Amino acid sequence: MPETTRFAPSPTGYLHLGTVHSAFFAARAAGDGGRFLLRIEDIDPTRCRPEFTEAIYEDLAWLGLRWEQPVRVQSQHLHDYHRALARLQDMGVVYPCFCTRSDIAQEIARSGAAPHGADGVPYPGTCRRLSPDERAAATRSGKQFALRLDMGKAVARAGALEWHDRARGTIRARPERAGDVVIARRETPTSYHLSVTVDDALQGITLVTRGEDLVEATDIHRLLQALLDLPTPDYWHHGLLLDADGKRLAKRDRSTTIRNLRSAGKSAAEVRALAGFPD
Ligand code: GLU
Repeated sequence: MPETTRFAPSPTGYLHLGTVHSAFFAARAAGDGGRFLLRIEDIDPTRCRPEFTEAIYEDLAWLGLRWEQPVRVQSQHLHDYHRALARLQDMGVVYPCFCTRSDIAQEIARSGAAPHGADGVPYPGTCRRLSPDERAAATRSGKQFALRLDMGKAVARAGALEWHDRARGTIRARPERAGDVVIARRETPTSYHLSVTVDDALQGITLVTRGEDLVEATDIHRLLQALLDLPTPDYWHHGLLLDADGKRLAKRDRSTTIRNLRSAGKSAAEVRALAGFPD
């Protein structure tokens, strides 16, 4: 069946073989007569750079990929995420968190929690327990804050949820493992989880493909879909491309960027083959 799929890179560096594998996986999964969309996930102004966005377009075109226009660039659609955020706030499932990274690290060290969950160690819930007076005082003092999902309340409201993965079958969502995730960051009025969920719905994506490192994040997206009355697409989390030592290819490893492979004289067909998609 033809599907609408998307490749959604964050322009925080040059594309490497691992991300190109994801791009081809998504394009192929659209099937004959399907639609393949490109989305630039550039909501983090501290890490994203316009020159990386340009490089993404250029490298993908050089590799022979074609995608539908227009490209959705997330930083140009903050109002869409803001609207979704306002709905969550109206439901009372979001609260402000004034903790700095070091506050959180100290609290976690005190509690002796072990790392797990989609976003690392779950937030210990410090600001969820603030009284209305404490919250008002922190806001008045001009302290910056992020907004977090009150996971307990959100899960209670949404009830039991499932989603389907082409490689894994039906999965019972357990978003509570991630704890109170950030839904809007200090420096930007949204988050990865919120904007990806809103966009997949707005763009009519029928099949979300991405690396298996994001399987647990899908539980959170399924929860947001339930809260925001958005449709649930089908999912297909693919295995990650590994290097010769069996380690996951990392963005920091410059040797596998398409830029470097191109300047080392590799052809587009050779790079496609290295990314796991020989013609
Ligand atoms: N922007 C995310 C990344 O580059 C991918 C998100 C997704 O495919 O859902 O890791």
